[in-house]
Amino acid sequence: MRRASRVMRLIVARPIGFCFGVQRAVNLAKQARREFSRVWTLGALIHNPEVVAELRREGIRAVNSLRQVRGGALIIRSHGCPPEIMEQARKLGVALIDATCPHVGRVQRVVRDLKSAGYLVIIVGERDHPEVQSLLGYARDAGMVYDSKMKIDAKKLGIVAQTTIPLKAFQAALTDLSQRQFEELRVFNTICQEAASRQAAARKIAREVDVMVVIGGHNSANTSRLADIAREAGKQTHQVENRNELDPGWLVQAQRVGVTAGTSTPSWVVDDVLSALRTSRPGLGDAMAAEEPDRLHVSGVSSVARSALRSGRSKPRKSHK
Ligand code: SF4
Repeated sequence: MRRASRVMRLIVARPIGFCFGVQRAVNLAKQARREFSRVWTLGALIHNPEVVAELRREGIRAVNSLRQVRGGALIIRSHGCPPEIMEQARKLGVALIDATCPHVGRVQRVVRDLKSAGYLVIIVGERDHPEVQSLLGYARDAGMVYDSKMKIDAKKLGIVAQTTIPLKAFQAALTDLSQRQFEELRVFNTICQEAASRQAAARKIAREVDVMVVIGGHNSANTSRLADIAREAGKQTHQVENRNELDPGWLVQAQRVGVTAGTSTPSWVVDDVLSALRTSRPGLGDAMAAEEPDRLHVSGVSSVARSALRSGRSKPRKSHK
């Protein structure tokens, strides 16, 4: 292993480790395992292979289809699932444990209410992400995933965000949509503040360091987003799932190394990676960093609308006759 010659400092993002929603889902699954001999999760409980493997060892198995469930308890993961899947699951005769993150549950209710009130629901997020798929399920035939080239033929638009998308992406979509033809526009800032805080911290730290290490599953969208944010800051960025993926060569020229992790990365994986980094450089000092979430700003939307957006309230926004 090559060793760097200069003093190096680790700057570790705060918050780090599981977010509230992921921790809650893992706790519910482990609690279910104490009560049931068989526990299933519909899809991987979280996007982290280390945790999924640990859960499997404890007897909590991920399935891709309800047809694979054989008795016991079924956990709905923090991303939620479409209501028709919930309905089918209820008919299976197994204990159904809904671990949908309460923040995601709130977005599901907003989408359902907008659809009931006759709005076209536009979801700003990643079409294939399970959370977005669940929201589309609540919107039924009145839901669309935002695309800058999308054609909109509706008088009333209701807009929500996938909980983990970057604020900038939501702002850009709102700026675009606010210039379309409609009679009424309702906007709900449904970005999760816990995810937003991590993105803001990643951005701040990336500006201050030479190298960023982002810890989390390669299949974790929110972890990859943190890595993208660090790269956007122009910094050499490496996403690792565990300590085995670290390359000490990355640190040779670095004086300051930033570390952050996705919301689905457990603390023990973070600690393990930090320990490996420290081992590579004895005497390595730590600093902690945290950042408040960015504020929502949308060009092209009135000041009244912007203040309501910040507070998360919904009101008719703007009329284009
Ligand atoms: S990132 Fe936010 S919305 Fe997603 S599971 Fe965690 S707390 Fe819930």
